[in-house]
Amino acid sequence: MLTVENIYKDYENQPLLKGVSFEVKGGETVCLLGRSGSGKSTLLRIIAGIESSKSGRVLWNGKDLQGVPVHQRQFGFMFQDYALFPHLSVLENVSFGLKMQGMGKEERTARAHSALEQVNMGPFAQRWVTELSGGEQQRVALARSLAPQPRLLMLDEPLGALDRTLREQLMQELREVLHQTQIPTIYVTHDQEEAFTIGDRLILLNQGKIVQEGSPQQVYDFPKNSWVAAFLGLTNLVKGTVVEEKSPVVETALGSFVVKPPLDFALAPGSPVTLLIRPQAAEIRKTIDAEQNLITVFVKDCVYLGAAYRIQVEAQNQMQLDLLVSQPVEIGETILIYFKKEYLTCLEG
Ligand code: ADP
Ligand code: MG
Repeated sequence: MLTVENIYKDYENQPLLKGVSFEVKGGETVCLLGRSGSGKSTLLRIIAGIESSKSGRVLWNGKDLQGVPVHQRQFGFMFQDYALFPHLSVLENVSFGLKMQGMGKEERTARAHSALEQVNMGPFAQRWVTELSGGEQQRVALARSLAPQPRLLMLDEPLGALDRTLREQLMQELREVLHQTQIPTIYVTHDQEEAFTIGDRLILLNQGKIVQEGSPQQVYDFPKNSWVAAFLGLTNLVKGTVVEEKSPVVETALGSFVVKPPLDFALAPGSPVTLLIRPQAAEIRKTIDAEQNLITVFVKDCVYLGAAYRIQVEAQNQMQLDLLVSQPVEIGETILIYFKKEYLTCLEG
């Protein structure tokens, strides 16, 4: 088990990581998510031992890795710009690192074959890497990091350089391979879809700190704050104040709303919150038949999605909301929308 404990890192006197702690348990794939420049790669390099931290510790099964050199940590690494050797075959690429470790030919060939099998590239062993598609090269790079049988795998935006269709396909493949291998993995990405597909657990990094940690469902259902919600693409965020704690009510510029009780914090009356309105909260109403959760909006756009209509509306204060409704509405119309409380979440601050 990997333990990362209170890591601090500065660059040119600018703090980048400000006390980062987390664990990766056996067999688990943890996705480390954060915007570009948030320090994800730096954190991986610190864990790998390539870079030092200002303070904090990295432990494996409780043993401090301070002073343990990179190659003795038995951690596998795969970067976005995984350079394969163009003058070597697929098999030679995968077994190259093992050769450097001094492993005999028979054993390293067997290991390389088995790693290629793991990523469904067995039949490609004798090909030149220059003959492979981008996706196939990616899998060879993954096989190369699996071949030494690392006790921890770190993948740094492995799909970052690929186009969308290929990325989606490889995402599914990576998910399967990582679950099969059962090697604990840290998977770094800035793409939430990738994280949701691949991660058993998500860790969200922002401004040098872990903002939230949990299963994809926990994070999606209960984003910790408006940064997390916005990062997940949940954009209907409205500032408000709690007016009632039991069967909570929040007052906002759009009106007052009965909301879903939060999971792990109290809604003290008077405290500021951000109200997250999920698109599926919306129901079109013909008459004013409720005192709360009902607003008047101006329809700016309506798109048929098959199962529902996505509408873009403008509410009071020129606030834009993206909603899903079951029936079409006219662009330019003013309509009444009711919000179901089970889709109204309160976020801290
Ligand atoms: P991410 O992987 O999340 O995009 P990085 O860890 O690569 O973020 O980088 C975070 C920040 O640290 C960036 O702003 C980058 O400019 C800075 N940084 C990274 N490495 C160095 C370095 N060796 N020297 C100075 N600044 C660096
Ligand atoms: Mg990076």
